[in-house]
Amino acid sequence: MPNSASSTIAIIGGGAAGYFAAIRCKELSPDLDVHILERSHKVLAKVAISGGGRCNVTHDLRQPRAFSAFYPRGRRELLGPLSRFGPDQTVEWFESRGVELKTEPDGRMFPTTDSSQTIIDCLESTARSLGVQVTTSCGVHEILRSDENARPTARFQLLTAHDTRPMLAHAVLVAMGGHARSAPYDFLSALGHTIQPPVPSLFTLRTRDRRLADLSGVAVPDATVRVDGTKLLQRGAVLITHWGLSGPAVLQLSAWAAREFHARDNRTTIEINWTGRESFEHVDEELQHQRIRLGRRRLINDPWPGVPKRLWSALNVAAGIHPETTYGTLSRASRQSLAQQLVASRFDISGTAPNKEEFVTCGGVNLKEVDLRTMESRLVDGLYFAGEVLDIDGMTGGFNFQAAWSTGYLAGEAMALADRGTQKTG
Ligand SMILES: Cc1cc2nc3c(=O)[nH]c(=O)nc-3n(C[C@H](O)[C@H](O)[C@H](O)COP(=O)(O)OP(=O)(O)OC[C@H]3O[C@@H](n4cnc5c(N)ncnc54)[C@H](O)[C@@H]3O)c2cc1C
Repeated sequence: MPNSASSTIAIIGGGAAGYFAAIRCKELSPDLDVHILERSHKVLAKVAISGGGRCNVTHDLRQPRAFSAFYPRGRRELLGPLSRFGPDQTVEWFESRGVELKTEPDGRMFPTTDSSQTIIDCLESTARSLGVQVTTSCGVHEILRSDENARPTARFQLLTAHDTRPMLAHAVLVAMGGHARSAPYDFLSALGHTIQPPVPSLFTLRTRDRRLADLSGVAVPDATVRVDGTKLLQRGAVLITHWGLSGPAVLQLSAWAAREFHARDNRTTIEINWTGRESFEHVDEELQHQRIRLGRRRLINDPWPGVPKRLWSALNVAAGIHPETTYGTLSRASRQSLAQQLVASRFDISGTAPNKEEFVTCGGVNLKEVDLRTMESRLVDGLYFAGEVLDIDGMTGGFNFQAAWSTGYLAGEAMALADRGTQKTG
């Protein structure tokens, strides 16, 4: 690790954003000393486990506005970065380095090898060939600003777990990812930055509700899930698991309502409309029509369209309907009770569980304090941010990596251009 500062760029964090920034910076300014300082013993650890080991690199939505709609935090602010380095550029970036990507029917993009190691190998070999230096087991715990006279060469001193001597740098990129607690952000607060409190996003919901007890594995393709007492709702597929509820609609709701869940200590009530969006009145009316059409048939044998048979049986039991009941003998009270179960089943949520495929942090460095054109701090010259350390998080589907690629690329470019500017005027 160096302790001279001339043209040294320190990148805190060897993740997706840190690597992308280092590579872009070195490409534009080969003479810069670009150092990645990684706290753990291994770089790109999240890339390795991402997308179930396949790495969902980005999403095939090519319009920045459509793409940015998938970020509960950062939607507006990411429009610019996505216009400059969006999914098109990501695909091109990887393909020009020999990594072919494929698009799955739902738009998620993966390497054709179906292995995240392909992405890791590409990032590591590109960085190595450009001369990016990587130090592992090197957590940064403090950034000190050097006095004004030292500018522009040694604006920062970094205190690390690796060396008793501080590392000197003229620019620092913080790409240290998201964290569950606020303590890891303390050294950024010490520089004057506001940290939006970190809370989890993209999680599944635990419930011990008896209606779901034996339904693990049942999937409903089109349901609406709402947090009780709010307008926060999401429509899509719901999957019943052995501990509760998962699937795209639940994960999306967990992202949009991340702060509400946290504020309620993850104990709340949700309401599910298993029909998608039909109203109570419509469902009640349809069930009355079934009385004429299917009079002698047992309810149990003719589920509501789109509602799997096992769930339908459980909802019938919850409505107090005997398995032998036919449409013709269904009482008004039972019919209305069933309609209620179909359009507004309420579930007490007792907690959350991480989604194994992907999870992120909601919260991080306040976006108002960062210039999203360069990713430079508006408070501290020469300090940059990229990736999940920012108060940006997206849905599952490649949106989180795209935010890391976009912001990392722009930060790397800006640091290189700032260096050229310094050389001209210096
Ligand atoms: C299980 C899982 C699967 C995922 N799958 C996908 C997916 O398929 N597609 C997708 O788009 N997103 C996925 N994500 C989200 C995605 O991995 C992150 O959004 C992305 O990795 C963020 O990149 P980053 O570089 O900002 O942070 P990170 O990848 O978290 O990298 C930050 C690095 O900084 C290091 N660090 C932290 N503090 C310090 C410090 N003080 N000093 C030095 N180093 C430090 C960390 O050890 C880490 O290596 C997944 C997340 C998880 C948890």
